[in-house]
Amino acid sequence: MGQRARLVIALPFLMLAVTTVGAQPPHSDNAHGAGTNGSSWIAHYREPAARLIGEATGSTFAWQRLAVLTDTIGHRLSGSPALDRAIQWAMEEMKRDGLENVHTERVMVPRWVRGAESAEIVEPARHPLVMLGLGDSVATPPDGVQADVLAVRNFEDLDAKASQVRGKIVFFNTPFTSYGETVRFRSSGPSRAARYGAVAMLIRSVGPDGLRTPHTGALQYASDAPRIPAASITTEDADRVQRMIDRGSRVVVRLKMEAHFEADAESANVVGELRGREKPEEIVVLSGHLDSWDVGTGATDDGGGCIVTWEALRIMKKLNLRPRRTVRVVLWTNEENGGRGGIAYRDQHRGELAKHVMMLESDGGVFRPLGFGYTGNETGRQTVKAIATLLTGIGADQINPGGGGADIGPSVTEAHIPAMSLDVDGSKYFLIHHTPADTIDKIDPVEMAKCAAAVAVMAYVIADLPQRLGQ
Ligand SMILES: [Zn+2]
Repeated sequence: MGQRARLVIALPFLMLAVTTVGAQPPHSDNAHGAGTNGSSWIAHYREPAARLIGEATGSTFAWQRLAVLTDTIGHRLSGSPALDRAIQWAMEEMKRDGLENVHTERVMVPRWVRGAESAEIVEPARHPLVMLGLGDSVATPPDGVQADVLAVRNFEDLDAKASQVRGKIVFFNTPFTSYGETVRFRSSGPSRAARYGAVAMLIRSVGPDGLRTPHTGALQYASDAPRIPAASITTEDADRVQRMIDRGSRVVVRLKMEAHFEADAESANVVGELRGREKPEEIVVLSGHLDSWDVGTGATDDGGGCIVTWEALRIMKKLNLRPRRTVRVVLWTNEENGGRGGIAYRDQHRGELAKHVMMLESDGGVFRPLGFGYTGNETGRQTVKAIATLLTGIGADQINPGGGGADIGPSVTEAHIPAMSLDVDGSKYFLIHHTPADTIDKIDPVEMAKCAAAVAVMAYVIADLPQRLGQ
C-alpha cells in the first residue's frame, strides 16, 4: 500500500439507509429456495462456500503462482520493463485459467528511476549507512551532499529549531507508532525541512525496529518549497546518529543519489472476468495492485493481493460456480507512486460505475485472514456479516469498519459504491513494507490459501444474491 491506502473512506450518505436487525433476506422470489425470514437464506450458500473453501485450501496454487511472479519477474516499479512483463504474464495466465474478457486497459504512468545511491557518516567516525532513497526524490549533485546533521523528533521540533536548519541535513528521527502517524514525516518532511533551508533530508525508516532494513516509499514535494533529496535509514543507524548527537558530537553525513524521473511510460491495468449468468452488466470488482517498489519483490505489497483476488475467479471457474452478476478482477498499475491506475479505471468505466455492486481491494498483506473491512450502508453491512458466518471455519468472519483501498478509492468515491478490503493479521506487514525483505518466504501458503477462500466466498455470494448488496 502507498500512503493513502489506510485512510478510511467516509461515505456518510451510505449511512442514511435503513437499519435492519439481523441479516437482510435477499429477495422474495425464492430464487435460491431461500427463506424470507431472518438469515435462513444464508443456508443455501453453505454448500458452494464449502466447495470454494475446499478448492482454495486444498492446494498451494496461489502461493506457487505468487512465487512464479516474484521469482521470475521480481519487483515491478511503475514504468519498468519488469512491470510490463508482469502485465503480459498476468494476461496470459488469466486466459489459461479460462477467465473471460481478459484484456489490458492503457494507463500512462510516471517513471521514477532510483539510480545508484549511498550514504555514510563521515564525522565523528566513518560508518556506511544502510539507506534507500525515498520514491520520487530528486538526485543530489553528482558529488553528493555533505553537511551537518540536525536531528528533530517531529514537525514541532523542526519549527522550534528553524533558525538552525539552513545548510543542514535534517534528520527526522521519529519512532514508529502506527503507519498513519509516522508516514507523514516521509511524505511532507522533505518540503517542511526545505522551507527552512535544509539541503537534504533523512528519515528513520517508517516501520518497527527491524534487522537493519531500510524502508522506501513515496514523498510528496510541496509546490512552494525547493526540492531536496531525501532518503530513509535503518532504525539501527538512526539510533547511532542520535547517540552521537546526544553526546554532543558534530555529525556529518555524505549523501549521494542519482534518482530522477524519465518520461511517462505506457502501462496498464489488467482485467479478467467471470461473466454473470443473469445480470452480467452488474459487477463485483476484486483487486490488488501489480506495481511495487523497486526493492524486494513486492510479494506482500501487493503481489499477494493480486493473486488472492484473481484466485477467487479461478476457483469459481474451475468449480463451475457462476454467480448471477459478473465478478471482475483488476490488477492495478501505479498504486505506489501516482495512483494513476485507479484514476484511469474511474475515468474509463464512468458509464458503468453505477452498475458496480461492490469493489474490494486486498492491499494489507495475505497473512492469516481475519475477515473484511466494509464501508457502505447498514443493510449491506448486515448482509456481509451474514455471509461472513460462512467463513467461521477458517477464522475469517469479522466485519470491521473502514473497507476500501487506494486504487478503488476514486471509483468508490465518485459512484458511492460499497467498498471492502481483506483484513488480515497485520503484525508482520510493516516489518517488511517497502523493503528488500518483502519476499515470498514471509508468506505462509496455508494462510494465503485461506485469504483466497475468504475472498472467493464473499465475492461469490455478493455477486449471486437475488438482491443487490445494500438494497
Ligand atoms: Zn500496496
